[in-house]
Amino acid sequence: MGFLSVSNVHHTYFSSEAATDALQDIHFSVEKGEFVSILGASGCGKSTLLSIIAGLLTPTMGTVTIDGQPVIDNEQLSIGYMLQQDYLFPWKTIEENVTLGLTILQKKDEQSREIAIQLLQDVGLPHVEKKFPRELSGGMRQRVALARTLAVDPKILLLDEPFSALDYKSKLTLEDLVSKMLKDYSKTAVLVTHDIGEAIAMSDRIFLLSAKPGKLYKTFEVPQELIELPPFETRSHASYSTLFQLIWKELESLEHENTL
Ligand code: ADP
Ligand code: MG
Repeated sequence: MGFLSVSNVHHTYFSSEAATDALQDIHFSVEKGEFVSILGASGCGKSTLLSIIAGLLTPTMGTVTIDGQPVIDNEQLSIGYMLQQDYLFPWKTIEENVTLGLTILQKKDEQSREIAIQLLQDVGLPHVEKKFPRELSGGMRQRVALARTLAVDPKILLLDEPFSALDYKSKLTLEDLVSKMLKDYSKTAVLVTHDIGEAIAMSDRIFLLSAKPGKLYKTFEVPQELIELPPFETRSHASYSTLFQLIWKELESLEHENTL
């Protein structure tokens, strides 16, 4: 059993008119310190799967464990969750936003302040702690969101398209930063994305999901020479294009199947 273990997960959304099968027979495990991506077209069930891993949504069937513990109703597990929107509180300063989780966990004020300032420095944002979110750019706000996510020292990070609302340059810069921070802090991470390049640049392994219902269609191992590079440099390596083409063809054949 891996550090994160997803076993036999099915999920159906029920409404008064319809039942939507969102996920079927999802089974995989992730080792400690590994970075995996869940890649797939819009609507294929990626966010549903991530919410289930986070313990925010109970699957219709199946189980998820992290470090041997079930995620459902488990207050002991600290899970970091980063979304496309940063969800910073506009009326709180940057420092207060970063220490929010620590305050909830009742760490001492002075200790949480030190953690916050160190993390803000690590994400390349010194001297912003007294500012408010509206004074920062989108890319800077996502850096704050990353600092806040790491502040509680989560066992695992779940990232749901965290770069997709950013301009291209901020996105590439943030990819490098997130990758470096997660390596430095030896974190296990699951990234959800519809961007093949991002999945290759960031991950050790990629799970490709098919749609309607979402199923684990294929797993790709990212070659070691790419894993060793920061995401930005990965994109200009010859092996990157080879893997990109391979995944692209699989995605195309999936779309073809869906339109038959
Ligand atoms: P993705 O993140 O890959 O875009 P989602 O997990 O958001 O996909 O959605 C997967 C499927 O489940 C889609 O068909 C979507 O319409 C449906 N779905 C998502 N959330 C709900 C919900 N709360 N109620 C009903 N159907 C939903
Ligand atoms: Mg989604």
